[in-house]
Amino acid sequence: MASDNDPGGAGTSERAAVDAPAAASRSLSADEGIARLAELIADAEHLVVFTGAGISTESGIPDFRSPGGIWNRYKPIDYQTFMSSEEGKREYWRRGRNTYAVIREARPNPAHLALAELERLGKLDLLITQNIDGLHTATGSSPERTVELHGTAHRVFCMNCGATMTRDEISARLDAGEAIPACRVCGGTLRAATVAFGEPLPREPWQRAATAAAGSDLFLIIGSSLVVNPAAQLPRIAANAGAYIVILNQTPTPLDDLAQLLLRGSAGAVMARVMSEVRRRL
Ligand code: NAD
Repeated sequence: MASDNDPGGAGTSERAAVDAPAAASRSLSADEGIARLAELIADAEHLVVFTGAGISTESGIPDFRSPGGIWNRYKPIDYQTFMSSEEGKREYWRRGRNTYAVIREARPNPAHLALAELERLGKLDLLITQNIDGLHTATGSSPERTVELHGTAHRVFCMNCGATMTRDEISARLDAGEAIPACRVCGGTLRAATVAFGEPLPREPWQRAATAAAGSDLFLIIGSSLVVNPAAQLPRIAANAGAYIVILNQTPTPLDDLAQLLLRGSAGAVMARVMSEVRRRL
């Protein structure tokens, strides 16, 4: 799905280093970058937002690729390893116990709040997230307008009979000493309702996301390294359909040249300021 028809060429882009004024020598100041994003949002008719782990770091959940995070110590088990051995399943639940403990304690930050508010204001077609932490819906983004592309860490299901249960219930069983919890209905293999590395995305959420991306006139990416596929194809789908692409991220991504507006900064801090401007404009 790679594009030969990239409408966001580097020559047409605007860039602002929102948290690092010393680096903001490109074309927009920090204030101008924020005002520009607010203007784009206020004018958009079909806004689609795409978020990654970076939107939740200010909520206390480390992202995947920054050094020293829990994901380096407790790297997720891939699907083949989980399926192929008892040891893989034991390790899956051992690591999941640690990462879920962090997710369970996390609270939404101003960036999550901003996106929930944009939906309430009628400004959001769809919120697509790669995150499994549930913070968007915990903030008030509706399940109807939120696609969790990689599933959710808050539910567990049986691969044999399809029974579902809360992750808190399984956490309690792990805390009580079970190493590999089995389904209490049929004895089948349980796993979190997340998409594992090496596993295809479920068709329905992907199609909803791709359709919304193709129908967007403003596609806003917040806190993603844009290297996990196929999710990282969504900006290209939007760009090919003519959407204006904005990337708000702390570090460079391989798709920066696709963006007409590039904001380098912290999701929560930047989106809080953007929302003040959006409210003034609506
Ligand atoms: P990633 O870790 O690959 O990239 C995160 C990006 O966000 C980085 O480029 C980083 O510079 C940026 N960033 C970090 N903090 C930021 C902030 N405060 N403001 C702005 N930008 C910030 O994450 P990804 O692209 O989402 O891919 C990782 C995969 O791992 C996803 O599939 C996701 O499902 C999973 N994951 C999810 C969570 C979660 O649910 N919170 C956490 C870690 C990993």
